[in-house]
Order: sequence, then C-alpha cells, then structure tokens
Amino acid sequence: MHIMNKYYITTPIYYANDNPHIGHIATTVFSDIIARYHKLQGEDILFLTGLDEHGEKVALAAQKAKKDPQQFVDELAKKWQSYWEKLNIKYDIFMRTTNPEHAKIVGELLTQLKENGDIYRATYKGVYCIGCEEFKADRDLVNGLCPEHHPDQVCQKEEENYFFKLSKYIPEIKKGIADGIIPLEPESKRKEILARLEEEVRDLSISRQNVPWGIKLPWDEIQTVYVWVEALINYFSATKIYKKEEFWPADLHFLGKGNNWFHSVIWPAILMSAGYKLPNKLLVHGYLNLAGQKMSKSLGNVISPDEVVKKYGADVTRMYEMFMGPLEATKPWNMQGVEGVHRFLCKFWRTVIDETGNIKSTISDIEADEETQRLLHQTIKKVGGDIDNFRFNTAISQMMIFVNHIGKLPALPRKAIEAFVLLLAPFSPHIAEEVWQKLSHKKTLAYENWPKYSEELAAEKEIEIAVQVLGRIKDKIVVPADADDEFIKQKALACEKVISAITGKEIKKVIVIKSRLVNIVI
Ligand SMILES: [Zn+2]
Repeated sequence: MHIMNKYYITTPIYYANDNPHIGHIATTVFSDIIARYHKLQGEDILFLTGLDEHGEKVALAAQKAKKDPQQFVDELAKKWQSYWEKLNIKYDIFMRTTNPEHAKIVGELLTQLKENGDIYRATYKGVYCIGCEEFKADRDLVNGLCPEHHPDQVCQKEEENYFFKLSKYIPEIKKGIADGIIPLEPESKRKEILARLEEEVRDLSISRQNVPWGIKLPWDEIQTVYVWVEALINYFSATKIYKKEEFWPADLHFLGKGNNWFHSVIWPAILMSAGYKLPNKLLVHGYLNLAGQKMSKSLGNVISPDEVVKKYGADVTRMYEMFMGPLEATKPWNMQGVEGVHRFLCKFWRTVIDETGNIKSTISDIEADEETQRLLHQTIKKVGGDIDNFRFNTAISQMMIFVNHIGKLPALPRKAIEAFVLLLAPFSPHIAEEVWQKLSHKKTLAYENWPKYSEELAAEKEIEIAVQVLGRIKDKIVVPADADDEFIKQKALACEKVISAITGKEIKKVIVIKSRLVNIVI
C-alpha cells in the first residue's frame, strides 16, 4: 500500500532501567505535539515510542529489585504507559524490544549484513564502561574514566566479538550529513558529528559475550547482540511487526544529544548495508536539567513527573516543558515558569468560559475587527511555522500575545476563538478539547483541519509619513502602523533627498509626530 501523506515520528527508544523522568517526558511530549499537528494537517500519522528492554544495566536493575528481568521490564512497561496516558500522549505503537518478533527481525537483518560481508569476527580490547554498555575511545574518557558514570563502572575488557564494518560506510555518511542527504538538526549537533567524523572511526563491535539478557546472534548462540544495535533496529522492526511497512522510512527520529552518534552515524550505516531507505530527518534535543547538570538517574537529580502532573495537570506540564527555551539548549527547570504557563492557560479559560462552566455570552458570530483578524492570521502563521521549525517556545509566546489581546475585547468572534483552539490543541489537548465541546461541537477536534492564514490579512498595516527638513516636505516614507519613533527617525534620516538636504549640516533635532510626519531641524 502506498500512502500519500504519511508521517512516521519516533521518540528515542528509552532505556528500561527506571521510571520516566522529566527529560523523557520532554521528548515524548514534543513528539506528541508534532504528531497531533501533522494529524490536523490531514496526514496519516505513525507515532512510535517504547522501551529498550535488554542489556546488562536492565539485568542489574532487575537483580537489585529481586525480579526476573522479563517480569521487571513487563512492570516497567506498564508504568511507562500509564505515564503517557496521564500526559495524554497519543502514540500508535508502544514498542518493546523483548517482543519475540523483534528478536526475529533483528536476527534476519544482521544475517543480511553478514551475507553482504559487512560482519566479521575479531578480538576486541579496550576500556569498557558498564554504565554506557560500550567500549570507550580515548576521546570519550576524562582522566581514563567515563564522565557520565561512577569509576567502578569502567574496566579493561578483552573479548571475541562480531564487528560491523562501520568504517566502510563512513565516507558516504560523512557526505550524506555534509550535503543534507542525512538531515541532522540543529546545526550545532550536525557540526559536532561532522567534526567527530574527521577522526578515525573504527568498526563497531555488535555483539557481547556473557550478557545473557539479550538477543542471541542467529549464527553464534554464545554472543548476544549489542543492546544499542538491536535497540536502533526497533524503529524498523516495529513497522513490520505492526504491519505498517508503508511508513518506512521514518520522517523524524527525535533523539537526545547523548545518543546522537548512534542515530546519526551507526543507524544510517546499518540501513545502508541492509539496503533500506534512510530516515528523512534526525532531530537532536538538549537535556532538561536542574542547574546546568545533565539530568540522569545516576546523578540523582530527578524530579518526579508525578508531582508536577498532580499539582498542575497534564496540559500545564506539557506546555511548560515546551516553553523552556530553544530545543538545543540545556534547560534549567524553573517552577516560576510552570506558574507562568499555568496562568496563561487559566487566563484563556476565563476569557472564554464563564463561572458556571459555559461558553461566555460575549462570544458570538460577529466578524472579527481588523486588529483581531490580523493578529489571528499572524498567530496561525507563526505557530505553524514555529512548529515546522521545532521552535515551540516562540509558538507559545505568540499564543500568549493572542490571548492577551482577546482578553481585552468586549465581544469575542466565535470563528477566531475556534481557530485559536485548534492552534492550542497539540500543546494543551485537554483544555482545547473541552473548550471545543463547549463551543457546541459534537465531535472531537482531532479530525478538524489546521486553520489557514492569509498573507494579506496577516500583513501589518503600513502608513505613509511625510519627511520635512526645516518644515519643508522633502520625501515620504512607508512604515508599519505600529513602528516606534526610533524606527521612523532612522528611516527618515536614510532618505536620499533628506541626506542631500542635510549633508554638511548639524542635525539639531528630529521631531517625530506619530503617524503623521517627521521634521528634521538643522
Ligand atoms: Zn559510561
């Protein structure tokens, strides 16, 4: 089956050794907003999230909890799903790498790579971090230790492994990332990968001995597949398991900066070797943190999402996480910011809903006035453009401007409110849906169309201003109706006729009479 407008988006496949924290929530909410937005654009969506359930760390966490690893991940998977339910995350697939069908597809894919001559056996010697579950290159170590894990996690290790000929694909990957064939954003992360690709890239050890909690290599039962390799394959295997093959390749893999290398270099290399299409976009986000430090379990600075959701609800939690700043920034968590978003949503609610919980009587089928119309079209344009460019914080700022404006209107045009509700919906689905129903719609807004804007209606009104020198009109300038005095002054002084009239003379004063004229006194 071929579908015209498909959109396949994935969160990172999360490591199943603990409950989700605020950072996981940020990436999942982000993906959910993108998915909801594309759905309102009329596209066919496949939204995948899930858990990477194999590997040493999971086995250790299970042991600590005195549980069998499968039981441990089964319970965790339920917990993660309940979190996503609380946060109103509408995923289509919750992928689990302990799914037996996943193991089968991983085996087939790696066999294919081996038959292509891209897998060989060799001895691996090096510094190994149990925390990262990977051999570390010198560049990854600080004083011989892993910067992200406790010293006792790092050891020398030597073993027989199978290797994937990653080095063979490096020139093509390098070119792909440089030319945008493998679109990697943001620019800072793209540069980081390109810089690392300038160094020597060794082949990748793709199997481990003595890691029983994993997928066995089909041709060597003693070796299990390196957990990172099989985890990456989930994005592909899920489309087969859930009979969604037509959605491959992924349109957007959303990932954390800690796993940029795996997604941007190793994953495309595996796909190239297997002869599958590469993902259409890789997008890296910054970590969410408390005080400049990466938030992760091993560093112990974890805010429980439960607390935030309980106190403020899903909509505020979702929106606040997206309001915290540009995607690539490492973000400090700030409870005052949470309050700010809370106030914004309350303000919108109070603007359209009265004390009895009904739509305010000030909302009717009137035409929007010129200013409201313009601001609405500007808001539609800005919010859509910002979502397309993953700038959710500025999209939210624009929505705040709109709500401030309608809060001052004595009468509210229903059409404008409805359009705004649709813009709000991906971010704040509960409140948007509730207001939508109160506006006497019988059906959910999920199948509505994203509002359209007109450039003409969104354009700022412009006015013409006369420019005088010593009281005599020299020229006319056109400026936006809301331009400030400084802007008007600069524009007036830049007129050619004005320049020739004042050359060699000292400007004593520039008088701006708003929206009428500028007089330059020399
Ligand atoms: Zn480590």
